[in-house]
Amino acid sequence: MNIIYRSTRGDKKEYTASEAIIKGLCDDGGLFVPNVFPKLNIELSDLPGLDYKQTAYEVMKEFLTDYTREELLDCINKAYDDKFDEEEKALLTKHGDRYFLELFHGKTIAFKDMALSILPHLLTTAMKKNNVNKEVVILTATSGDTGKAALSGFADVSGTRIIVFYPKGGVSRIQELQMITEKGKNTKVVGVKGNFDNCQSGVKEIFNDEELKALLDKEGFVFSSANSINIGRLIPQVVYYVFAYGRMIANGAIKAGEKINFVVPTGNFGNILAGYYAKQMGLPIDKLVCASNENKVLYDFFRSGKYDKNREFILTSSPSMDILISSNLERLIYLICDSDADKNAGLMKELNMSGVYRIDENMAERLKDFYGAYADEKEVFNTIRSIYDNTGYVIDTHTAVAAACDLKYKEDTKDENKSVIVSTASPYKFVSNVLKAIGEDVSDKDDFELADRLSELSKVKIPPAVEEIRNAKILHDTVCEVSQMKETVKSSLI
Ligand SMILES: *Cc1c(COP(=O)(O)O)cnc(C)c1O
Repeated sequence: MNIIYRSTRGDKKEYTASEAIIKGLCDDGGLFVPNVFPKLNIELSDLPGLDYKQTAYEVMKEFLTDYTREELLDCINKAYDDKFDEEEKALLTKHGDRYFLELFHGKTIAFKDMALSILPHLLTTAMKKNNVNKEVVILTATSGDTGKAALSGFADVSGTRIIVFYPKGGVSRIQELQMITEKGKNTKVVGVKGNFDNCQSGVKEIFNDEELKALLDKEGFVFSSANSINIGRLIPQVVYYVFAYGRMIANGAIKAGEKINFVVPTGNFGNILAGYYAKQMGLPIDKLVCASNENKVLYDFFRSGKYDKNREFILTSSPSMDILISSNLERLIYLICDSDADKNAGLMKELNMSGVYRIDENMAERLKDFYGAYADEKEVFNTIRSIYDNTGYVIDTHTAVAAACDLKYKEDTKDENKSVIVSTASPYKFVSNVLKAIGEDVSDKDDFELADRLSELSKVKIPPAVEEIRNAKILHDTVCEVSQMKETVKSSLI
């Protein structure tokens, strides 16, 4: 069966998977969605026999139907290799009576590596297939995390260049070191004298600069972005839900066919949406618990049917979930209004104009696959502490939001299905808050000293990603004014 991709907002034009990956966003501003959901073409009882790469192939071949077997396997082999510090790639662990799916064993010790390690290969393969003989230039503005994940993914991938802008002085020292020590020969990292918004607007302006685009086109370059609404990031995330299910069977936690829940720390709604796609493929998922931090727009939405971003933006200890507009939610809205693109487009227009929209009762009825929950800062810190006290296992602040919501869900519903807590970052990534939560004094210590301390307490080795930057050479020292961003791009390419 051939899957085709169309806009959530009414543009009827049809795209193959590879075309959709190159385009990223639809011309009408909508997101690409598959015309149907393919079913998993393997018995559930056979899942425990598959390793991560084999699972990836089983899932991705159903969605990316215009890629040949060889192309897809090549992408998978290049992505899920020894860049990961764990043989399993996605590690299902049990602590006490709770299951955690650790998605932080890639290069930047957070879950975005799962998709960003394959996207560059899907993208360059797509370019070849579609005879686009250009070098892709990825431009990214980062507030810290995405930049390094994208750099690692694209580093030394032939046919690509990547330029990352970050606010000089606006990211943590570890985050900055991760980026400015990047070794990839096709990478450039630039500190901008401004804040994250300045960086982001600067990048948008460059993307929309027709004159620059024409000039670069002549020189053989084309711009692209690696952001989380690209289906080339979404589809690879479906894989680890299927893989986790297989590992739950292998561990004897469940029998093949038994329903389980996933609890997902959510920001942009990409990760949890991939879980929903897995369910549409036939994976026996009962509930997807959408775990929010104090920026609980999604919690309120699941309660009331009203999406309302007009509220105070709260800086929390789980910064990757500090989001008021969850872009990938649009793909769910589209599905629950029976793929009525005009209706979806209307709601998105309301969101854009007023910051608010409300779904009708029929749509709300179809949100039953989800349960919205949230955890405040105190609950997050208490959760890290109590799991550490009870089991010795240390989780990061984002995972802790999910672990807290898992308990709230069970208390509220008495659901006895097994649940898997999706663990999106290593505690080493947010080491200061994690240590504070377990009662350590963190004052006057730098992040590397804190990492040493965490290693003692948790008996988990410091991941190579942190160890490597401790003494790494600084390779990127470009700093520019906001007004010089365009010039910087130009001069680094031609
Ligand atoms: C990006 C991120 C999230 C949120 O994932 P979404 O797909 O945006 O919902 C959660 N935790 C961590 C550590 C992240 O980096």
